[in-house]
Amino acid sequence: MNIPFAESWKIKMVEPITKSTRNEREKWLKEAHYNVFQLESKKVYIDLLTDSGTGAMSDRQWAAMMLGDESYAGATSFFRMKETISTITGFKYVVPTHQGRAAENVLFSCLVKEGDVVPGNSHFDTTKGHIESRKAIAVDCTIAEARDTQLVIPFKGNMDIKMLEDCLMKNVDKIPFVLVTITNNTCGGQPVSLKNLKEVYAVSKKYNIPVLFDSARFAENAYFIKTREKGYENKTIKEICLEMFQYADGMTMSAKKDAQVNMGGFIATNLEDWYEQAKVKCIIYEGYITYGGLNGRDMNAIAVGLEENTEYENLETRIKQVAYLAQKLDEYGIPYQKPAGGHAIFVDAQKVLTRVPKEEFPAQTLTIELYLEAGIRGCEIGYILADRDPITRENRFGGMEFLRLAIPRRTYTNNHIDVVAAALKNLSDRSENITRGVKIVWEAPIMRHFTVKLERL
Ligand SMILES: *Cc1c(COP(=O)(O)O)cnc(C)c1O
Repeated sequence: MNIPFAESWKIKMVEPITKSTRNEREKWLKEAHYNVFQLESKKVYIDLLTDSGTGAMSDRQWAAMMLGDESYAGATSFFRMKETISTITGFKYVVPTHQGRAAENVLFSCLVKEGDVVPGNSHFDTTKGHIESRKAIAVDCTIAEARDTQLVIPFKGNMDIKMLEDCLMKNVDKIPFVLVTITNNTCGGQPVSLKNLKEVYAVSKKYNIPVLFDSARFAENAYFIKTREKGYENKTIKEICLEMFQYADGMTMSAKKDAQVNMGGFIATNLEDWYEQAKVKCIIYEGYITYGGLNGRDMNAIAVGLEENTEYENLETRIKQVAYLAQKLDEYGIPYQKPAGGHAIFVDAQKVLTRVPKEEFPAQTLTIELYLEAGIRGCEIGYILADRDPITRENRFGGMEFLRLAIPRRTYTNNHIDVVAAALKNLSDRSENITRGVKIVWEAPIMRHFTVKLERL
């Protein structure tokens, strides 16, 4: 008999979670204006809202926390974190920030101005927010194949090089950098190949434009390169990471993802000019340049988390759990963005709730139904998150319409995953009876999904 695959860790500490009744959930969700961001976490049984900062730290990370140096300036914890980042990425300058969007805020404050154009592969929501709030334009150059959720290709997060070059040619004076998100979160946690990273870099250099990686899940991206791209099977994750970052001038990082901590972020670069500018903004917005909004202990935990998560076994355990959920959904015939991504399953909401019109937000409707069914909190990554067009103020119905089930790192067992799959199957079985969705009764002008108030139709 084949020995089955199992986790590369065991559990040393547990946190109780609570079940609820459907009646309770009906009441709670109504009070939350049908926006799961407004729910108290104790009213959630299995929380797949995000994998951001929601994972479990290792015993070594907790041990490193005790050794944090809380000095205001020159903390050893900063240098420990910086060393680790430089070893893994090859970038010599590091600016700490309290999370990923803070890294964006600091760096984009220096680089992005009104009228600029920032091409990329499906900009993440906060990234798009930091571009559009500066009255610049985010141009999506993701390959067209990414939009066909049933198409199985290994690197669905790739940039369309021709679209990118067209954009570079037309706007060359207005482009502060080209942005590559690894993995491509918005289009389904899909990886970008090393070949594509090289091509993006080459074409950007042709126009003398720097390349920035939005690197929240760079280690997961490296895992996919190792397991899917020819020529990389025998390289270590750390070797692949170093090679990936050769094709970037800098990175922004949400340490809440692949650094496996609950809070943190940073900018890293080899461009002295970016570094000098970012230092100034870091001091204004985040804190002195050797802590940037982080405790010394947090920086220690980031150092250990990065070290651990650039090892194959840790990544394999995580990504195989995501694949396990995918396999269950295949069994039950529930369509999702294929192949399974690194951190989440993105259920194709329009294909499940075929009778809910797009104006009534099918993905949000599915998010609501899943919570009511079993107390599971997913997240709409669709038309609500897409916000309105900054110029026409129309809803943007052009993109993907997903219910995202993000899997926190080292947190749930496959028994929990079985509950999620069964709940989705029940919904899919009665999807014919779900004909109406929701309408917006209040929304913020930007990044509306966090606070939007909805009514059921
Ligand atoms: C999470 C994330 C960010 C923002 O990071 P925060 O730590 O949440 O502020 C930016 N880009 C990508 C791709 C992300 O996944």
